[in-house]
Amino acid sequence: MSAPFSLPDRQYMQTALDLAWQGRFSTSPNPRVGCVIVQGQQIVGQGYHVRAGEPHAEVHALNQAGAAARGATAYVTLEPCAHHGRTPPCAEALVRAGVARVVAAMQDPHPLVAGKGLAILTAAGIATASGLMEAEARVLNRGFLSRIERGRPFVKLKTAASLDGKTALANGHSQWITGEAARADVQILRAESCAVLTGIGTVLADNPRLNVRAFPTLRQPLRVVADSGLKTPPDCHLVRDGGATLICTLTADDGRFAAQPNVRVQQLPGQNGRLDLAALLAFLAAEGIGELMVEAGAVLGSVFLQQDLVDEIVCYQAPKLLGDTARGLFALPENPAALAHGPSWQTVALQQLGDDIKWVLQRT
Ligand SMILES: [Zn+2]
Repeated sequence: MSAPFSLPDRQYMQTALDLAWQGRFSTSPNPRVGCVIVQGQQIVGQGYHVRAGEPHAEVHALNQAGAAARGATAYVTLEPCAHHGRTPPCAEALVRAGVARVVAAMQDPHPLVAGKGLAILTAAGIATASGLMEAEARVLNRGFLSRIERGRPFVKLKTAASLDGKTALANGHSQWITGEAARADVQILRAESCAVLTGIGTVLADNPRLNVRAFPTLRQPLRVVADSGLKTPPDCHLVRDGGATLICTLTADDGRFAAQPNVRVQQLPGQNGRLDLAALLAFLAAEGIGELMVEAGAVLGSVFLQQDLVDEIVCYQAPKLLGDTARGLFALPENPAALAHGPSWQTVALQQLGDDIKWVLQRT
């Protein structure tokens, strides 16, 4: 299955990855996939998956290539699918088009594919190779892969803090710590997420919308409220604005949102009187949520951290000093081991946005 890859192989796969990223805001719950078809040294077809229910990347690329696909090499960022879903299997389409070679960045771990796509190609006499730029392909689909491989979404925790690590004044006032550029960046994070989760405390205090408003998008993220006591007000934005909202609660649904077709109430198991977050994440994964952004207050964010359920922290830090009485970024017990031992978080990206810093951290 493995084969040495040439420099042109890498360049064409990079093009396929770039194409796939064009679907970053819209393919959910499907993976982001790009495809490039190369005849001789010329790209004769290219495409990417736009959204669920629409043609896959390979179909766009094959349509563009037409007869030029015969004897060509197809570069795909994910193993071509083998199953009849809402669209026919791409592996069979590649066979019919007569391509000579298929290079995939990685196998598709989805149980309906998992090697079957490449097997169809091999059985038809097509040369196949997989594993070219797999690390990049895994970043591209980290949400989809987490959902399939771990049974829970990839969780990114978004926070905003002052230079002195505070997130709100003592009276709870927290809006506008960061500047316009950082807030615009949050809109991008939301748009690429399958869902945005917050706690009932934030809903009651800030009445947030948690949607994408800064630019047009084909798909809004599902809004999820962790609301153990079912206290979401019927007149809050998340209920009233018509966008899809999922309220996760310990309480039985009493039908109070029955007149709101955009709102769904889901009863889930608890743990010490709170929602069991592991069960909540498993439920979301089963619902097709791959990339989850948590935009919550210090308490809920801390519970996610303490249960080791956070894959990435995105912290926007503003050059403001809120003072010692302001509220901290998290509500965690003191941890002397953090000073003595190496970091459990590592910086993966740092970016200046206006006067603020965007600091992205992942688990070591
Ligand atoms: Zn397909």
